[in-house]
Amino acid sequence: MRYSSRLHIDLSIFAENVEKLRKLCPQNEIIFMVKANAYGHGVASIVQFSNNELGIREFGCASVGEAIYLRKKLPMNKFDIYVFSELNLGIENFNLAYLNQRILPVLNCDKDLDFVLGSSDFDKLPICLKFNTGMNRLGFDYQKVDELIKKIKQSGRNSIYHLMTHFSSASLSMVKNKKNIEQRARFAEIKSTFKAAGISVEKTSIANSGALEQGIGHEESHIRPGLMLYGPSSLAPQIQEKSLWNGRLISRLETQIIKTFPVTKGQPIGYGATPAFEKGIIGIISLGYGDGFTNNFQSVYLKHGNSKVRVVGRVNMDMAQILFPEDSTVIEGDLFEVWSDDSDLFQKICHQTKTIPYEIFCQLTSRIPRVYSIK
Ligand SMILES: *Cc1c(COP(=O)(O)O)cnc(C)c1O
Repeated sequence: MRYSSRLHIDLSIFAENVEKLRKLCPQNEIIFMVKANAYGHGVASIVQFSNNELGIREFGCASVGEAIYLRKKLPMNKFDIYVFSELNLGIENFNLAYLNQRILPVLNCDKDLDFVLGSSDFDKLPICLKFNTGMNRLGFDYQKVDELIKKIKQSGRNSIYHLMTHFSSASLSMVKNKKNIEQRARFAEIKSTFKAAGISVEKTSIANSGALEQGIGHEESHIRPGLMLYGPSSLAPQIQEKSLWNGRLISRLETQIIKTFPVTKGQPIGYGATPAFEKGIIGIISLGYGDGFTNNFQSVYLKHGNSKVRVVGRVNMDMAQILFPEDSTVIEGDLFEVWSDDSDLFQKICHQTKTIPYEIFCQLTSRIPRVYSIK
């Protein structure tokens, strides 16, 4: 565990983001996506705060294991957990979790649906269905709605608890991109087919962050935001100016400069003896790929106060080298922020590291303590 490197998470900013989202979508209930340890932010603390302080009642995980972990961590809290991809239906321990712990499997294939419809234990389990309307990953084929309805009716059921689909291209324009237009139309069609067949659908949802940032998905009962609530936009750079989202990053990645020394231009630095870009001061930071500060950060420009600084040489397991300008006043023991609540700087980091906010957050390892504060 690190002591001087940490991911600082400001829950007041998080609360502001949730408030902003509720203003944007006043009619919708939120299923807050907290898979992958709440996108690296620490799932138990994030869910506890969301549930107790912000009144969020529904959360989304990827695997049933994540859901059970969360339930164990917060046994007294009242919330529902949807499991979206790794259901493990049919395994006794997991079946018990679904039956007794308000954990809802989002069924996405015939095998799982057949299991639920065919098991008398599950006859009270609310049915959640995810349709493949063009994502082509998981989900029931949108062209087989009639067959599915027949099967559901034959089992004696006449209601669906939650019907959903997921966009493949929500980072692109919702109104111009063909895939998005197609997926929206197909989902509307699925809903009306269920209705026409006399199967009631209690809840529906379609929108992830990218769609919500473009004002899409409000006609459904629920929304399923993930990334946006942690701060960043998930839209592609070319359409980011059209985003309705002005969230702030809730995290700040802080480390410490553990050593400084002057270098001349071309002086070899660390592994690979990489030459310094120019004359300046090297500051060694306590972050490396063992923390999730990967080699994608090599040569990336960052900021320290008002100075532009640059990662020089290879990133090591435990450390990395930052080149400060010659006239910098940086000294050993100084704090160094890789990113802060400044969303623009964060976007630039994603761009330079050729990665996406999702990945930068998720790759932070457990050696980095998550530290929470509230104003
Ligand atoms: C992860 C996920 C979301 C949230 O996506 P963001 O882009 O983070 O908002 C919504 N729905 C499903 C099914 C997901 O898997």
